[in-house]
Order: sequence, then structure tokens, then C-alpha cells
Amino acid sequence: MVEKVTDGILWVAGRDKFMPDSHIYVLGDAGSEDLTIVDCGIVEMGNYKLDELDGYGISIEQVKRIIMTHTHLDHIGCLRDFLERGPHIELWVHREEATYLESGDDRVVFGNKMFESMIRSQYDIPERFFEFKVTRKLEGGEFLDVGGNRFKVIHIPGHSIGSIGLYDETRKIFLSGDTIYADGAIGRYDLFSADSEMLKESLEIIRDLEINTLLPCHNRIVKGGADQMVKNTVQYWLPLLK
Ligand SMILES: [Zn+2]
Ligand SMILES: [Zn+2]
Repeated sequence: MVEKVTDGILWVAGRDKFMPDSHIYVLGDAGSEDLTIVDCGIVEMGNYKLDELDGYGISIEQVKRIIMTHTHLDHIGCLRDFLERGPHIELWVHREEATYLESGDDRVVFGNKMFESMIRSQYDIPERFFEFKVTRKLEGGEFLDVGGNRFKVIHIPGHSIGSIGLYDETRKIFLSGDTIYADGAIGRYDLFSADSEMLKESLEIIRDLEINTLLPCHNRIVKGGADQMVKNTVQYWLPLLK
């Protein structure tokens, strides 16, 4: 189901099965030719999202770029489905994870060997399935003017080395990827390229933003009044991270 979060932001919820599937967000005016999709989902979970968007009146031709909050399998697993239907689409990823994608190194994607063998037993994944050319390497700190909205890229490593959040400073909307959720949880920090010390610093950055609307990539979203909940979540977790 496609749900309007607010002007210029649509949400298509992930469908978790035996593995989680990330939500996606569509940024931009639904009638424009300058749409941005944030994240994709796990393997084989791309086409239903594109079909739902199609039913909502959004065609793949309107999508200019995909921005990944990070490149774990449950976010990038079906990127190929998106790119097959829209070969013109640009891929924007933080440079720390772009390096892995461009060399076909899938250690960040799978997170660890156990997940990799679990996934490979479920899906037929060819060699170099997660090798991609990254159109734009994000740094953190830059502003993206996409589809009539301005988002600041915030590098928040810890859950993974190249995790980013996208922050609309005017409307205080934060797309948090897997770093912080709306139910008191934070992203795990035991996978390849994760780091609890970095996560701690990233959570402090998030705490000091003012966040009205919190849009994570899993579970529920909060459309307003999220600030205190975010601050409470960070305060709870900081002492537990070493
Ligand atoms: Zn993740
Ligand atoms: Zn995820």
C-alpha cells in the first residue's frame, strides 16, 4: 500500500517474511519527473513495490535516482529489479559503502557468514549480484535538492560504515535508515563494518537534531511529535554502547 506521509513524501511499507524487508520512501511531487526513491528492499521484494507505485500513478520513468541509507541485503537486495525496470535511474550511496559495491565486495551486504548462507539457501543469487556502479558518492554534510525539497545528508555510521540519514531541516523530517527506529530500538551493531563507538556518536548527532517526523526503514513510522521519543531512545541506549 502506498501511503502519503506528508507533501512530497510517500511510503511503501516493507513486507517482512522470514527475513525483514525494508520500507521505501518516494521523495518529490508525485506528478513530477524528479522523484527519488530511498532504499529498495530484500531480494524479490522490489516488484510489488513498483507495482503499487504504478497503481498509485507513479511510473518508473519519473524516478531519477535511488538513494540508499545503507547497503544491507534487506535494503539493496532487490535494487536490480528497480534498475531493470528503470535503467536510467542513478544510484547514490555514501562513499564508504560505494567502494564495496563497486568492487563487488558483498561483505557489507550480507553482514556476516551466517546470514549469507541462510540467504543463499533461500535464493539463487548469482556471482557479483551486488556489484553496482555508484553514480554519486555521498559524503555527509551536503544538501540534496531533490523534487522540490532540500535534505541534508547526515553520515551516521555505526549500524554500518556508510549509513546515512536524510534530514529536512525546515519540516524537521528525518529518514533514519536502520540507525534508530520508532519503537525504542536502534540498529544492530554486530555486523561487518558496524561499530558501537561510532553508533554512539551517531546517536548523539541524531539526539541533537530536532525531529518531528521520524521515518525509519522498518516497523512503524511517526508522523509528528517524535522528538521526545527520539531523545528518550538515545538516552536509553547511550550507556549500553561501549
Ligand atoms: Zn541495516
Ligand atoms: Zn534494514
